[in-house]
Amino acid sequence: MTETTSFKHVSYLWDDAKAAELAGDEVALLIYRSNLLGADLRLTNYGGGNTSCKVTSPDPLTGQDTPVMWVKGSGGDLGTLKKSGLAALYLDRLHALKNRYRGLEFEDEMVNLFNYCIYDLDSKAPSIDTPLHAFLPFKHVDHLHPDAAIAIAAAKDGEQIVKDLFGGTLGWVPWQRPGFDLGLQLERCLAENPGIRGIFLGSHGLFTWGDTAYESYLNTLEVIERCAEYLEENYGKKGPVLVGKK
Ligand SMILES: [Zn+2]
Repeated sequence: MTETTSFKHVSYLWDDAKAAELAGDEVALLIYRSNLLGADLRLTNYGGGNTSCKVTSPDPLTGQDTPVMWVKGSGGDLGTLKKSGLAALYLDRLHALKNRYRGLEFEDEMVNLFNYCIYDLDSKAPSIDTPLHAFLPFKHVDHLHPDAAIAIAAAKDGEQIVKDLFGGTLGWVPWQRPGFDLGLQLERCLAENPGIRGIFLGSHGLFTWGDTAYESYLNTLEVIERCAEYLEENYGKKGPVLVGKK
């Protein structure tokens, strides 16, 4: 991953001093990162996208440490996200739901089961994107709808463009309605392409991640910047840059 903090097509807003005040509080850093991402509408549309982090916290029932995922809940916007807009869920319970999954035609019944996975009782209602974050093993995960990435994700030869642009470091999952099954597709894509830095969702958007809130933020900006550069480099050169899907 190249470390650069100078971007032309996206706003780099990370403030080291502010982040240092939040150091050690992964949920506060998640909220901080989310607000920065949501502040630049080129990164995601209003109300679109979601972010998450995975931490280890004591289970109130047993006192034992257990993995917990904090993820943006249903509704609201990343730019103004607060702790009350997050849902916190037991990660192992979310994974255990795979044993209850009966297949694509029944995936909507999984949404109700998310409620049985809630860890923090003040959680916002979990969104249908919850399994998309849960089934990726990374500590911090961003899912956005960036204009530049969607332009490529919705192009007829989008998958090939992503391959050419990122040299196999980004995966590709074809369009599928968000839900439990798409989470499984992301998990499969990562298993088949270990070491990737993100996944394009055909006609939809982008998943990127990192070990820390900052690494995830930077990875997200770098991928979107590269997409925007590609569009800029190719505008007007060879007729239409992209041809949309039928
Ligand atoms: Zn989305």
